[in-house]
Amino acid sequence: MPPIYLDNNATTPLDPLVREVIEECLRNIHGNASSIHAYGRRARVAIENAREEIASLLGALSHEMYFTSGGTEANNLAIQGIYLKEKNRGNHIITTRVEHPSILATMKYLEKEGALVTYLPVDNAGRITIHELQEAITDKTILISVMLANNEIGNIYPLKKISQIAHAKNILVHTDAVQAVGKIPVNIPNIGVDVLSLSAHKFYGPKGIGALYIKQGLSIEPIMHGGGQERAIRPGTENTAAITGFGKAAELIRAHLSQEMERIFNMRKKLERGILEKIPDAHIYGELDHRIPGTLNVGFTHIEGEALLLNLDLAQIAVSSGSACSSGSLDPSPVLLALGLSQQEAKSAIRMSLGRFNTEEEIDFVLEALPTIITRLKDVY
Ligand SMILES: *Cc1c(COP(=O)(O)O)cnc(C)c1O
Repeated sequence: MPPIYLDNNATTPLDPLVREVIEECLRNIHGNASSIHAYGRRARVAIENAREEIASLLGALSHEMYFTSGGTEANNLAIQGIYLKEKNRGNHIITTRVEHPSILATMKYLEKEGALVTYLPVDNAGRITIHELQEAITDKTILISVMLANNEIGNIYPLKKISQIAHAKNILVHTDAVQAVGKIPVNIPNIGVDVLSLSAHKFYGPKGIGALYIKQGLSIEPIMHGGGQERAIRPGTENTAAITGFGKAAELIRAHLSQEMERIFNMRKKLERGILEKIPDAHIYGELDHRIPGTLNVGFTHIEGEALLLNLDLAQIAVSSGSACSSGSLDPSPVLLALGLSQQEAKSAIRMSLGRFNTEEEIDFVLEALPTIITRLKDVY
């Protein structure tokens, strides 16, 4: 049965159909999309078809999508680009304490450049309150950036409501939707955000490619300068093969999302129920209902998450502990600390994230293996 991959929020395996498209592109399309000759035109067509596919998935227009090297770059471009454009109007930005490091580190950087940043607190289930958001707004607020879905606990945040509040006060809204796109339906006109980040490798596409949606009519400053690619918002020769793979990944999501969500939700529910039944002192972190279907963050009394991860790894079950993005560090997850967990509680948690290629049999196997490992680890204490 093993190996079993339950770390789909860190990255997903490439879908074989996506791989085929990339291989075909690498074999047959080598032109620079900016070239006017036939080679260039073929690359341009491949890129524009992918852009169209990704825009359709999100209910956006294709010229509202700008390719980047991934979610991190899209988040940097969004926040720095808006700040550079709008800083004469005001220097205040509102975000949350549970954002991805690519948001939080960008905010820290802008603080050194003169920005004033409010980090909204969350309750013990990871929720922000609209009241606190409203209280935080000042006449210097230019941007609110709140993630659509959290990578560690899976919570979904109320972007539609946030956009309504922000727009009534002439404030722009960005959302890091990297963990939402491909996992739940994301329709940009419906949530009403101005700028949105996504990344292909979180939904079975290749790593190193992502996109920023920028609403038609809105202009932001580029953070890189060069040739005029991506309408000078993100210059540099396009990664044609990765972009075609990204397009295919988006097409597969558009075709299969509703069945896939249900299947993944059912597997997670089974895993969650099984764990709570067999290990009664387990705690589930984050919102119980309002979250992306495949994410399960769970803590166990008197267990080190890191030790549990290593023992699961020996059993060929891959999960993550703490924050995957600062892996290698033994610091407790800042997201779990923001929920009010103690250092020890935060360190006891592991994240299991399910995806397209997991099966019920794998969940059954994990439900057999996990309690045995937990019991053994508790005996060591
Ligand atoms: C993975 C992730 C990112 C970073 O995306 P990359 O493409 O890996 O740079 C940003 N935000 C969230 C919520 C993520 O899960």
